[in-house]
Amino acid sequence: MQVTKTVEETRNLVKNWKKEGKSIGLVPTMGFLHEGHASLIQRCREENDIVVVSDFVNPTQFGPTEDLEAYPRDFARDSALCEGLGADLIFNPEPENMYSNPHAFVNIDLLSETLCGKTRPIHFKGVCTVVSKLFNIVAPDRAYFGQKDAQQLAIIRKMVEDLNFDIQIVGCPIVREADGLAKSSRNTYLDENERKAALCLSRAVKKGQEVIHAGAAAQDVLTEMKAIIEAEPLAEIDYVSMVDALTMQPVEKAEKDVLVAMAVYIGKTRLIDNFSYEV
Ligand code: AMP
Repeated sequence: MQVTKTVEETRNLVKNWKKEGKSIGLVPTMGFLHEGHASLIQRCREENDIVVVSDFVNPTQFGPTEDLEAYPRDFARDSALCEGLGADLIFNPEPENMYSNPHAFVNIDLLSETLCGKTRPIHFKGVCTVVSKLFNIVAPDRAYFGQKDAQQLAIIRKMVEDLNFDIQIVGCPIVREADGLAKSSRNTYLDENERKAALCLSRAVKKGQEVIHAGAAAQDVLTEMKAIIEAEPLAEIDYVSMVDALTMQPVEKAEKDVLVAMAVYIGKTRLIDNFSYEV
């Protein structure tokens, strides 16, 4: 497995692989890898000749009061994990290698205004910008994203369609801890009590899935889910919403495919979870 730090080195490797006619898969990550990331890398390994993992805590997707500095990092561990999963390259640039100042942004505004975009107004602009850059640097045939960040996945799909990136976007299911908590690099912020309290998210997901199958209106599904979270003293709801799966706009009832998504503060840590419902 190779490690690159610069855009140039990465491009040169990719050019050689392309000359050899190899297919390339990309897994964009912010590092501190866990089994959720591993599931994307494994799928990428199965479907491509070359597996590229990017490991970059992207500053442009963090707001001024968010956890950019505190975000967990452990490149040595990430590197060993990627090697074990058979990755060919980890691209681990410094912010200075990725961004000049000032620099251009990519924004898919309509889908970015609801759900997480409401609380994190510049987040998806940063995500679209870094993912576009990675797509241009690595030029993959396929790129792998988790359903855990369902709004991100919907925005990336729309970006690829609108901007004609010739890349297949592969969505991968949410990987959870044995007790249901969705795996996340941010779970390391939780103390013992918060870790227990965080289970209210996956319990709310489970409840929502049961209620929606019985044909309930959005209001009723969301009320039942919110009740579970509100019963947890350490939890504070940012949002619990039902939106159209493609447009990310709120819906009253699950008449088309929908996404039911939530963000909840457990203490200071903001966690997300969701489920999709296909009609
Ligand atoms: P991150 O490093 O948090 O930016 O995540 C990198 C990629 O891994 C994104 O496409 C995430 O959606 C995906 N991912 C993170 N956690 C999970 C999980 N628990 N299950 C599946 N995919 C995940």
